Amino acid sequence: MNVRSVINKGKRRISLVAYLGVALFFVGILLSLINRDMFTLALIGFCLTLVAMVYAFFAIPCPRCRTAWGYVAMYSGGLFSISKKIKFCPYCGVDIDSDA
Ligand SMILES: [Zn+2]
Repeated sequence: MNVRSVINKGKRRISLVAYLGVALFFVGILLSLINRDMFTLALIGFCLTLVAMVYAFFAIPCPRCRTAWGYVAMYSGGLFSISKKIKFCPYCGVDIDSDA
């Protein structure tokens, strides 16, 4: 398993929680039109997304230097993976396609 796949795995986990929160938020909003108590579901979804995004800033450590990629990992590349243009860890300079 190389450094890229370790970081992608971390990003994928946090992204799944964040998108689950977004889905719960919108489902809660729609269901609250029928039953006002379902607005709680929207609040839970909002909080889940907020916590996941804040956690992302301090998570996803480089397996070599243990420095959190945070912003670099979450805001580059696709929804569940980092950009293919990133070739090295921005903190320790390790080739991220090498073994972790
Ligand atoms: Zn590093």
